[in-house]
Amino acid sequence: MIYSIINRIVINIIRLLPLAFVRIIASRYVAGESAQEALNIVQGLNENGYSVTLDILGEHSNNKFDAITITKEYLDLYVSIHNQKLDCNISIKPTHIGLDIGKDFARRNLLTLLKKAQEGNNFLRIDMESSQVTDTTLELYKECKQQYSQVGTVLQAYLYRSQNDLKMLASDSSCNFRICKGIYKESPDIAIQRRRDINSNFLLLLRYAFRNKIYVGIATHDLELLENAYEIIEELKIPTEKFEFQVLYGVPMSGWLEKHIKNGYKVRVYVPFGKDWYAYSIRRLKENPDIAGYILKDIFRK
Ligand SMILES: Cc1cc2nc3c(=O)[nH]c(=O)nc-3n(C[C@H](O)[C@H](O)[C@H](O)COP(=O)(O)OP(=O)(O)OC[C@H]3O[C@@H](n4cnc5c(N)ncnc54)[C@H](O)[C@@H]3O)c2cc1C
Repeated sequence: MIYSIINRIVINIIRLLPLAFVRIIASRYVAGESAQEALNIVQGLNENGYSVTLDILGEHSNNKFDAITITKEYLDLYVSIHNQKLDCNISIKPTHIGLDIGKDFARRNLLTLLKKAQEGNNFLRIDMESSQVTDTTLELYKECKQQYSQVGTVLQAYLYRSQNDLKMLASDSSCNFRICKGIYKESPDIAIQRRRDINSNFLLLLRYAFRNKIYVGIATHDLELLENAYEIIEELKIPTEKFEFQVLYGVPMSGWLEKHIKNGYKVRVYVPFGKDWYAYSIRRLKENPDIAGYILKDIFRK
């Protein structure tokens, strides 16, 4: 009770939180500021049986210098992953590598990354951002796919269009996509708003993918959805090499990660890192106010 009151207060004053407090939150959700810190975390996760995807925090680069710098950082990551033999790929946001500056510019950066992924026989995931860039993201994904097969994108269960987008993706049986609920605020004209209906669509998309033998990254922390996904996997007898579960680094999973591993299911942890940790942590805190309570409990215990 006391903590739920604290949570509500924290949400109301979130922007006034002291930097030190946000830094404690960040350390739970962000693998540090530097690539080396993140690679150390990857190594530890690999040793415990988890695959990883690395994400450099940030989006909407508004000048070429920033977009090229981020692209170079991702190129270096591919080299380090290869040299250190890590079980790790990368996830990029198109606007981070320059989509707001221009589609051609972003395409050039994306194809450079794709080439590097190919050199190391690695995989590239193109994250899905707001609906303003869904079409362009899918176009870029298709262009990449023509050049190298180990590339995938993301569909958001809250978008009505995702059913059609999945049909389009399913025409290529080597397709590999991540399914998630979707994190952006979208209008009711284009996006389902009620949690129950988003979950139904998530499961509809999952069934469709499985029936069409498409590889799916099931990205959710929703324990009810996980129960439902397990039921579908068992009902349709889906082989373990056709899916993986994906979670964000640091989000509590009530023993489900261990359960997945015990069942022989692949789990990939999405590990963000970088200088943009402050904004990311504030978003995590807004999404799950309970975190404020957990951290206060920890502080009081100490
Ligand atoms: C690996 C991965 C990749 C993703 N990629 C994308 C993407 O490319 N595009 C996109 O739009 N969205 C992406 N998302 C975000 C996703 O769309 C959802 O917004 C987010 O995962 C919350 O939905 P949920 O399915 O976990 O269910 P919810 O019902 O929202 O959450 C279930 C419970 O998990 C906890 N929880 C959930 N998310 C968080 C969090 N971030 N921090 C702390 N606690 C949390 C909460 O306690 C909540 O009660 C991704 C999510 C994951 C796990």
